[in-house]
Amino acid sequence: MDFKAFEEYCKTQKIEYRLNEPMNLHTSFKIGGPADIFVSVCSKEQLANAILKLNELEIPYFILGKGSNLLVSDKGIEGVVINTLNLNDISVDGEYVTAQTGVSLASVCVTALENSLSGLEFAFGIPGAVGGALYMNAGAYGGEISQVVASAEYIYKDGSIKQIKAEDMCLGYRTSIFKDKEMVITSVTFKLTKGEKLQIKAAMDDFLLRRKTKQPLEYPSAGSTFKRPEGHFAGALIEKNNLKGASIGGAMVSPKHAGFIINYKNATCSDVWALMQKVSDTVYLNDGVKLCPEVIFVGRE
Ligand SMILES: Cc1cc2nc3c(=O)[nH]c(=O)nc-3n(C[C@H](O)[C@H](O)[C@H](O)COP(=O)(O)OP(=O)(O)OC[C@H]3O[C@@H](n4cnc5c(N)ncnc54)[C@H](O)[C@@H]3O)c2cc1C
Repeated sequence: MDFKAFEEYCKTQKIEYRLNEPMNLHTSFKIGGPADIFVSVCSKEQLANAILKLNELEIPYFILGKGSNLLVSDKGIEGVVINTLNLNDISVDGEYVTAQTGVSLASVCVTALENSLSGLEFAFGIPGAVGGALYMNAGAYGGEISQVVASAEYIYKDGSIKQIKAEDMCLGYRTSIFKDKEMVITSVTFKLTKGEKLQIKAAMDDFLLRRKTKQPLEYPSAGSTFKRPEGHFAGALIEKNNLKGASIGGAMVSPKHAGFIINYKNATCSDVWALMQKVSDTVYLNDGVKLCPEVIFVGRE
């Protein structure tokens, strides 16, 4: 892989980049070895051109949002990690809110509140950015991004910038078309409805309080470790198998919420992975239910 050529490209395009950037600095789990090259783009054009260049050079790349749903390998990530958090414009047009991919869900929720727009209250407290939230079709408390997204703008692998409507996004439980196709989201437009500011605020506060009470927010994690298996709750199954507090190395099944694996003491990716294996094997053995990871593993095997 011709990393030197891409470094030269970054220099000429004035794209900020770092070599061997530790990914534990960029993930909510605080886990992950170095990315070979870590670049921070400042505009969608810069992002589109960088993708084009990377495809031309056949260098693999990974798009990073807030890193709140990732388990990054201790051996790091081969190729280029593209940080999108500088793409952070947000605008409001009537009941439509358009946010670039790097805008945090918290900011979108606050903007909606300021404009008395309802629909995104459920997302207040999900620690991701807009692009990651659409990619995952993030959801909580009966709400889901699919219920409020109208359209999105994305970059195709040939570098062209295109639009996609919500109905074409194949949105399902923690999944979207963006998982299967090489499409990099640049912005998302949400369709909200006029509401009562006090009620919107009350709902946001309520959801946040529920999180603080039930979730182990005092420890690094990537949220729910496993998806909800049909007809069950992962946390309840894990708790039933007496796995609360079970640990391997620095990783532990949260004693507060069995659905979360936490990094309680300098956990490695291998610790978390081994614990995930132990949890899913035990649940499968005793209950016959297969647990599938919700967290996304990234990097060298
Ligand atoms: C404490 C805690 C609580 C959580 N609670 C919830 C919850 O209630 N509900 C829920 O659904 N999730 C929850 N999560 C998980 C996580 O916050 C969400 O999945 C979030 O939407 C991920 O967004 P992100 O910006 O962090 O994405 P990242 O983790 O950075 O990336 C996730 C995936 O999206 C891709 N991606 C990111 N940006 C783009 C883009 N612009 N174009 C294409 N692909 C992109 C990445 O490549 C990666 O594959 C929680 C996590 C934590 C730590």
